[in-house]
Amino acid sequence: MRLEGKVAIITGGGNGIGRETAALFVREGTKVCVADYDETAGQRVVDELLAIADECAMFVKVDVSSAESVEHMARAVIESWGTPDILINNAGITQDSMLTKMSIEQWQRVIDVNLNGVFYCTRFIAPYMVERGKGKIINTSSIVGMHGNIGQTNYAATKAGVIGMTKTWAKELGHKGIRVNAVAPGYVETGMVANVPDKVLQLMLDKVPLHRLGRPSDIAHAYLYLASDESDYVNGTVLEVNGGLVI
Ligand code: ADP
Repeated sequence: MRLEGKVAIITGGGNGIGRETAALFVREGTKVCVADYDETAGQRVVDELLAIADECAMFVKVDVSSAESVEHMARAVIESWGTPDILINNAGITQDSMLTKMSIEQWQRVIDVNLNGVFYCTRFIAPYMVERGKGKIINTSSIVGMHGNIGQTNYAATKAGVIGMTKTWAKELGHKGIRVNAVAPGYVETGMVANVPDKVLQLMLDKVPLHRLGRPSDIAHAYLYLASDESDYVNGTVLEVNGGLVI
């Protein structure tokens, strides 16, 4: 087991990549807090996890876009299990629109969840990790944050911002025993691409040298590497997991 006895918080753990990561981490010996806005999905994941190992999982409802809600979630985990070893900032949304049509609400909501959410979760958890002198923080960027994408001004801004925060925190926290890295997925088979028409999907696949979409498990294994001691000298990096995709 690569994460035996660890405690992890996985935001957005109720679906897609977060759900897959929660299961992988539990199989590797970790206790996982599934911290999600979606109570039904989050609780279902916890029930699945508890079938793998006793007392290995709990659900805490959180809206990462609310500092108050995040503080409540952080306290709930720390009171039950102590300071987490691993924070995976994975919760995210898209609200796509061309720039000239994008509403202020679409802009604001994506910033609130994908950018402010990462800041709030890390802001509340990192001081406890600093006090303990160890911890791993893994943020979720995207190929879109590095290269942009049509219709995703808001999403691209947040995912570029995540890279800036990751590199800043790696510098601020590295000497305190905390490593901070990011994973940048390409196109992954989850809710986010479920509604893409076949024709568009084919165009997307044509740009991927491995000629398949990423699977949630591809991203989960990148999180696992960055959360484990195997990546002990990796700090402030953005690990691209995209099959060689160029957009
Ligand atoms: P991905 O491709 O990143 O896995 P999903 O949409 O499948 O995308 O999963 C994203 C997860 O993030 C969902 O479980 C969703 O409920 C969660 N999420 C979205 N917004 C928030 C929020 N404001 N607070 C907490 N969790 C959220």
